[in-house]
Amino acid sequence: MTISTVFVTPSMIRVRFGGAGLEKFESTGIPDERLRLLFGDGTAQVARSYTVRAFDPRGPFLDVDFVVHDGGIAADWALRAKPGDRLRLSEARGWYGPPTDIDWQLLVADMTGLPALTRAIEQLPAGTRASVIAAVPDRADEQIVPTRGDVSYLWLHTDGSRHDRARTVPVPSLPEAVRDFELPDSPGYVWVATEASEARSIRKYFHRELCWDPRSFDIKGYWRHDKERWQQRYAQVQHRIDTVREQAIADGKSGDELARIVDDALENAGL
Ligand SMILES: Cc1cc2nc3c(=O)[nH]c(=O)nc-3n(C[C@H](O)[C@H](O)[C@H](O)COP(=O)(O)OP(=O)(O)OC[C@H]3O[C@@H](n4cnc5c(N)ncnc54)[C@H](O)[C@@H]3O)c2cc1C
Repeated sequence: MTISTVFVTPSMIRVRFGGAGLEKFESTGIPDERLRLLFGDGTAQVARSYTVRAFDPRGPFLDVDFVVHDGGIAADWALRAKPGDRLRLSEARGWYGPPTDIDWQLLVADMTGLPALTRAIEQLPAGTRASVIAAVPDRADEQIVPTRGDVSYLWLHTDGSRHDRARTVPVPSLPEAVRDFELPDSPGYVWVATEASEARSIRKYFHRELCWDPRSFDIKGYWRHDKERWQQRYAQVQHRIDTVREQAIADGKSGDELARIVDDALENAGL
């Protein structure tokens, strides 16, 4: 049940859920744990993925930060949410998992990944070295949270022109900024949450170009630009993608490897 809503920054609404319905919820404690939130009535429900920004079992309270954007069922719901409104939610699951033997972390996100990124920063063990690259519309959407880690920030302001007038140079995209980042010459871990095509480009960089061990990065697409066009195109090629996936499973592929094979098939199909 919704308890309250507040704008954390101009493009982010925090909805606090609470009440008896939350008593059975168990947090994994993993900072990018996500829920599936169910919108609509019993006959026509749609699910959307959102991050548990914070959970306090003593309330219990559960905070979810929604990015404000046009034309979204979930985003519209958050804009209109008021105390007493109810949503159904799934169990939580997370991926962020830095190996123990690393010296540094690189955390990369756009607005949708910021709830998980800020939670990860809050939970960093004392002295952990982390670099953040984050894309937000403008300065007012930056978020700096308390941490015991040793954290540096690069904020990219994406407000329309991608042009930083003060510097008179184009603002890089997230994939460009990741390529520009000077990777320390010691073991590290990379976590990325951003738009799907950006995530794919960054994944290719670490996997194909740098040949990193997949255990050293977790790179996820959190949303799709122009999702409606993508879904139309996907419907036309779905049988081809399904065939590739089934063949890969029959060949014993799973996990990251399977995901990459399917990703390649999608890219070949122009998706
Ligand atoms: C693991 C995971 C965790 C996530 N955590 C969060 C979170 O904590 N907070 C959060 O806000 N999002 C989060 N997302 C992203 C969120 O699930 C998507 O943005 C989702 O599409 C929003 O649903 P909607 O109903 O508002 O829009 P949809 O109905 O899915 O899309 C409607 C239109 O809006 C566009 N669109 C969708 N998302 C955005 C966006 N962010 N910016 C601009 N245009 C958009 C689509 O291309 C489409 O044209 C997460 C996703 C994943 C996979």
